Amino acid sequence: MGESVAPAPPPGATMRAALLRGPGHVVVEELPVPAPGPGEVLVRLRACGICGSDLLDWYVAKKAPMVFGHEPAGEVVALGPGVANLSPGQRVFVHHHAPCMECEVCRRGDFVHCPVWKQNALRPGGMAEYAVVSAPSVRHDVLPLPPHVSFAAATLVEPAACVVKGLRRARFAAGMRVHIIGLGFIGQLFGFLTRVGGAAFVSGADQIGSRLALAAEHWADAVFDVRSSQPPTQSFDLVVVTPGSPAAIRAGVGLVRNGGTLLIFAPTAPDQEVGLPVHELFFREITLVTSYSAGPDDTRAALSHVAAGHLPADVLISHRFPLAEAAEAYRAAGRTGEVLKVIVTMD
Ligand SMILES: [Zn+2]
Ligand SMILES: [Zn+2]
Repeated sequence: MGESVAPAPPPGATMRAALLRGPGHVVVEELPVPAPGPGEVLVRLRACGICGSDLLDWYVAKKAPMVFGHEPAGEVVALGPGVANLSPGQRVFVHHHAPCMECEVCRRGDFVHCPVWKQNALRPGGMAEYAVVSAPSVRHDVLPLPPHVSFAAATLVEPAACVVKGLRRARFAAGMRVHIIGLGFIGQLFGFLTRVGGAAFVSGADQIGSRLALAAEHWADAVFDVRSSQPPTQSFDLVVVTPGSPAAIRAGVGLVRNGGTLLIFAPTAPDQEVGLPVHELFFREITLVTSYSAGPDDTRAALSHVAAGHLPADVLISHRFPLAEAAEAYRAAGRTGEVLKVIVTMD
């Protein structure tokens, strides 16, 4: 991009990072800049998105305190011993977890269930000025960005990869009729990607007017305001439920055609009962599909969608905050209404 290569920070340097201390509690603190070990790289992070999972109190309570953020992009500034496939100055998407690509689980393609997957992670996390990328990620899931893909746009790669994987697991194909329940950021990604994937008809439902308007403007054949309009009268090959809500999941079942598929894209809380109508699911032969996170094949597909302009960052990213205002960014991400995607920038 015509910029000079950022220098690696000197030994003993500190950096700012945003810690999630508990549900709803974000503080920006000074931490030591981590040093890359063998096979690892140090990345100067430039932008990171806030994910819906960062806002789930039961999920956060399990993990806090932590430097949150797993939708990062930045530039490589230092290499650990033995790294040959990257060089300082490269602009990259970095995946926060990566599989080994060699075990039985990986050979099946179940990358997120590889034992190596959870053992490695971005250190200390995505909401920091610098992070060390683990050796498995360096080997398998650090993707150079084409020059025209901004750091902000590259924050879409991780969530888009999850959507790519969800559509693959649900066997989405061109010509299908698709309905999307919940048109927050993830629902909009499903809309854009099913449209570009050749869906014959795509509709969406939400209760927020701006989300419905955005869907209608960019990809939806029909939108349904769940507060006022009647639900769709036709049924669908594929219904995607993006909120982890029992009511939304049950509503989704009723909209799947006989022999069709319901994609449950978000978890319910650990002890929540959904009350699925198994009698109906059985006789109507409805396939239930879940999809969690994404692997190295999905991030590559997602980056090509971003690079091709299939997922317009200026439409999808509604709010940007500097790292110093990470607490405000986090609060904004928790507000529905006009908020679609909040990212934090580090420049
Ligand atoms: Zn996420
Ligand atoms: Zn593996």
